[in-house]
Amino acid sequence: MLESDRGLVLMDQHAAHERILYEQMLRRLEQGDAPSQRLLLPETVELSPRDAQFLREHLPVLGRLGVGLGEFGERTFLLDALPPFVKVSDARRFVLELIDELVAAGREVNSFRLGEQTVAKTVCRHAVKANDPLAGPELENLLNDLRNCAMPYTCPHGRPTLIEMNYRELEKKFGRTQ
Ligand SMILES: [Zn+2]
Repeated sequence: MLESDRGLVLMDQHAAHERILYEQMLRRLEQGDAPSQRLLLPETVELSPRDAQFLREHLPVLGRLGVGLGEFGERTFLLDALPPFVKVSDARRFVLELIDELVAAGREVNSFRLGEQTVAKTVCRHAVKANDPLAGPELENLLNDLRNCAMPYTCPHGRPTLIEMNYRELEKKFGRTQ
């Protein structure tokens, strides 16, 4: 909960963080490849034949976004890197959920090959945790980063990051004005 010069502002920190990561990712893509962080212990990921085929089509995009996956068998892949902002304890599960959601997104837009932006949006959604309480400098940083975004008011999927209730509305609700 924040205060602006116009009133009260409620922030969805998950949506805000998603927006920030998404724009950072797109910027890095424009500059070349996104940085990735090697896993200390690469993990194997086994998929159904259909998902394996789907993933094969998207390996190059995922690689450019920092998700390092290589073919390791007909239905098996080796995960050896993740984008540095992905802080997950279970890298394998992160990738399995990511693939599930990409497959679902593919069905929705009825295309076998998804664009970079769709893949980036999905990576961001899975990279963010909603309930870590933020305070002090962390919150300041988040707000600063959000302020620097090209489209700060929604997450990449179109949900609001900020809701404002101005003083007029509040006064009205408290019966101080008509
Ligand atoms: Zn979103």
